[in-house]
Amino acid sequence: MMMLSWSRRAACLEQDPELFFPISVEGPSRSQVEQAKTVCGRCPVRQPCLEYALDTRQAHGVWGGTDPEQRRELSSAGGPRRGSVPAPQLRSGR
Ligand code: SF4
Repeated sequence: MMMLSWSRRAACLEQDPELFFPISVEGPSRSQVEQAKTVCGRCPVRQPCLEYALDTRQAHGVWGGTDPEQRRELSSAGGPRRGSVPAPQLRSGR
């Protein structure tokens, strides 16, 4: 697998990959997904990870603290750049 520059600092590098790529996001796998999201919550590269997953339309697994359904919702809402992150304020130049 290609090593992305931000992925070297990923908090999940030392975790069980099955946590991040469970068979399903439902049923017993739900707790694995929640554990994975907890790891993402303390990951220093969460934002680039999420952007990468959205840009490359990752359909499986937990990326940047999101499961596939959440990423579908973010994509249909225009992605995190246009949705959750406020646009910079333009200075008036007075
Ligand atoms: S945000 Fe989550 S999936 Fe992404 S690199 Fe960090 S720990 Fe791994």
